[in-house]
Amino acid sequence: MFRKVHFRLALLCASITCFILVVMSCGYLYISEKSLKDSSFTSFQNEMEDIADILTENHVLTWEQLAKIEDQGTYHIQIADNEVPLLFKHQSSPVRDEIFTAAWSYFETRFAFSSFEDSPVYRMEFDFSSKGRGASDYYGCAIIHERSGGALKIMVLMPLTALRQQIHSQRILFALLTALAAGALFLFAWYFTRKLLLPLEENQRRQTQFVAAASHELRTPLAVILSCASASRRGNEAERAHFLDSIQSEGMRMSGLIDDMLLLSGMEAHTWSVEMRSAELDTLLLETFEAFEPVAAEKSIRLSIKLPETALPPCACDPGRIRQVLSILLHNAVSYTPEQGHICLSLAYDGKFYRICVADNGIGISDYEKPRIFDRFYRADRSRNQKGHFGLGLSIASEIIKAHQGKILVGDTPGGGSTFTIVL
Ligand code: ADP
Repeated sequence: MFRKVHFRLALLCASITCFILVVMSCGYLYISEKSLKDSSFTSFQNEMEDIADILTENHVLTWEQLAKIEDQGTYHIQIADNEVPLLFKHQSSPVRDEIFTAAWSYFETRFAFSSFEDSPVYRMEFDFSSKGRGASDYYGCAIIHERSGGALKIMVLMPLTALRQQIHSQRILFALLTALAAGALFLFAWYFTRKLLLPLEENQRRQTQFVAAASHELRTPLAVILSCASASRRGNEAERAHFLDSIQSEGMRMSGLIDDMLLLSGMEAHTWSVEMRSAELDTLLLETFEAFEPVAAEKSIRLSIKLPETALPPCACDPGRIRQVLSILLHNAVSYTPEQGHICLSLAYDGKFYRICVADNGIGISDYEKPRIFDRFYRADRSRNQKGHFGLGLSIASEIIKAHQGKILVGDTPGGGSTFTIVL
């Protein structure tokens, strides 16, 4: 599912950015072509001004002069004195004559030239298509010089092959650059959307794992309840009472597990928050210690407490939740420490941080397991299937401490066992 969403998102991002890129490129290309055409036409106009001066001021024009002008600017020149064409070396091709005819007819239909008002020389530059349609392929300049003996009509043509070639190369370059940029944008969109989707994918994976593990954990007590219920139908009074006890204890296990799951999901959905107030941690530790003394004593475990000798400043925390974390840690310590073992609860303050430690000399936690024990439903050794242990305790403890902006760390107790440290 995520692959599909990833591909679609990347495609959508890339398409939108590419569309903007193409629109901008086309706009830029249009402006650049327009200014190229304008500047080329302006320079043609300037050159025509000079050529018109040369052609109209000289009374005698030699073939060499005309040929030189033609070769210099890649121009084609046609001169007619009183409608009689002057011939010189380049004037021999019928195609050339056809283009000049087209230029004159375009000039005559387009510009209503009638009389010479101020100057005896009339000059007009224009661009036109020699085929009579499509894009212009020539610049033309009509020069008409009114003289006493009649009119000298000059047409100078400049093919736009070089300009068109330049525009064509520019378009190809732009298309290539846009295609390259589109490719780069798609790669970027692919990478970016991948990064965006990773946490969602991870979340989805964790949810699936959570549901699978929760179903697995609920199945065992449920199976016991169902078999006890069917067995109690057949059993005698005493057996029935025993089965009912089992149903009740398994029901309570299930209820505890459901409470833990609801608490964790509430934490993830942020519908739950800690209620911070000022609390005396030493009193809180002492109360928890007293509550756990009989539990430890039942397993012949020695429980001790170490508090600072001087009174500590109050700590900003949610005392109820900190007590819950301590209960989880002490409950684990009692469960994973053998008889005659020792558990020590201690508190220290360095002027900045409070450190609460629960150290036991029990079975310990391997280095491989240490980073995993805070995962939901993780149990280091499933074969030691302790009743009431679903692998959620440390996840809840870690979420509560995270909500306090604190840290929970696990290490080894010198001489064996594990030590959990809460830093607040
Ligand atoms: P559980 O309810 O199974 O104890 P937790 O999340 O509290 O779940 O603990 C996860 C796992 O971490 C336990 O299954 C156990 O293997 C290991 N663990 C936790 N506390 C201790 C401890 N004090 N000593 C040894 N192992 C521990």
